[in-house]
Amino acid sequence: MAGHVAQLEPTHGTAEIAHRQGRLEQLDHKPLLVFWETTKACPLSCKHCRATAIDTALPDELSHTESLDLLNQIAEFGKPAPILVMTGGDLMVRTDTFSLIRYARDLGIRVAISPAVSPLLNETNAKRMFEYGVRSVSISVDGIGATHDGVRGKQGHYESTLATIAMLTGIGYTVQVNSTVMRTTVNDLPKLAATLIGLGVQVWEVFFLIQVGRGTDLLELLAEENEDVARFLYDVSQYGMLVRTVEAPLFRRVATNLRNSTGEVTDVLPAGSLYRQLSNQLLTLMGQPTHKPKAPAVATRDGKGIVFVSQSGEIFPSGFLPLSLGNVKTDSLVDVYRNNPLLKQIREADFQGRCGICEYRDLCGGSRSRAFTEYANPLAEDPACAFVPSSSSAHAPHN
Ligand code: SF4
Repeated sequence: MAGHVAQLEPTHGTAEIAHRQGRLEQLDHKPLLVFWETTKACPLSCKHCRATAIDTALPDELSHTESLDLLNQIAEFGKPAPILVMTGGDLMVRTDTFSLIRYARDLGIRVAISPAVSPLLNETNAKRMFEYGVRSVSISVDGIGATHDGVRGKQGHYESTLATIAMLTGIGYTVQVNSTVMRTTVNDLPKLAATLIGLGVQVWEVFFLIQVGRGTDLLELLAEENEDVARFLYDVSQYGMLVRTVEAPLFRRVATNLRNSTGEVTDVLPAGSLYRQLSNQLLTLMGQPTHKPKAPAVATRDGKGIVFVSQSGEIFPSGFLPLSLGNVKTDSLVDVYRNNPLLKQIREADFQGRCGICEYRDLCGGSRSRAFTEYANPLAEDPACAFVPSSSSAHAPHN
C-alpha cells in the first residue's frame, strides 16, 4: 500500500505559493488538505505501513452512502474546497472509487490519489481517473531495487513501480513520489533522487519514520542525522524537483536558513559525516545544481491545514497521530476541525519543551505525531530535532 500518507499537492510556482500563503490565514476555518483512508484493504504488505493494511476491507469501513456524506461535509468548508487526498490501503480496491471521484468533482472538490502499485493501477484505470479530473498522484518508492522490494515485501516491485511512474507522467499526471527515510534506506537517497529526477517526478515527499516501540528495532535516525538528511534534501531541491518532508517540519527551519544565507549559516547544525557522504554522491550523480531551491514555503502541520479521516470515519489530526477527535458518521468534520481544543492549540503553536520556546515554532512546530509517540503528549517537543532554541539557556549551534 501507499506506505505513508502523502501531503500531496500539485507543483506550484510563486503566484500559487503567495495564494496559498493568503489561505494560511484561513487555516483556522479550513484545511488545505483532507486525507481520507478510503479502505484498509491492500494487495501489498509494506513493513512500515501506517494503516497496517490487510487483504479485505474491515466491516466498519465507510459505506458508499457514508462516503458520499463525507464528501458533502468536505464541500461544506466552502469554496475553494480543501483538496481531497484519497489514500488507503489501496483506494483502487474499493468498487465505488470512480463514482466517488466523480461525485467529489461535481461538488467542486479537487481529488488527488495515493494508490498502491498493483495490477489495478493500470493504464485504463489511470486514464479514466484523469478523465474524471484527477491530476495528482503519489506513488511510494523507498529505495533502489532490492531495498524497495524488501520494504514492500514483493520481489520485482521496484521495476513495476518505475514503469507505473513513467505511465502516469505519460498520461499527464503530476507525479509525487513518497519515500521513507530510515536506517535501512538512507544510503539509497542520492541514487533514488537522481532516478526520480530522471523520470520527471515533480514532487518528492520524504517521510521521516516514526517508530512505535523504540529501542526494539532502531530504524529511526538520530536527531543529528535528521539534520544532515534535511541539508541533503535541500541540495536535492536544486535540481528542479520540489522536495517536502512528512513528520519532519524541521526541514523548513533548515531550508529557510540555507536559502536566506548571506554567507554565514545560522540555526542549522554543522554539516556531519552523513551529509557529506550523501551530498558527495549526489554531486557525482547529478553534477552542479541546475535550479533555484524548491523547498516548502507553507507552514502546515497535523491539524493545521491538514486533517485525516480513517476508513471507519474517525477524525484525526493526521494519519500518524492516533488521537480520535470524533467520527464523521456522527460529528461534523467542519465543526471538529474548527473547534476541537487540541487542534486550536496546535494551530496556535501552543507547544511545550524546546518547541514551545523555539523561534521556529510556527514555521516548523515539530512533529506532533512523534511527540505523541515518544511522550504520549501531542504538544511536547519533537525528539527528532537537534536544534536548541536561542531563548533557552544554551545557544543554537552555528557553523
Ligand atoms: S525545536 Fe521544535 S519548533 Fe524548533 S526547529 Fe526543532 S522541531 Fe522545530
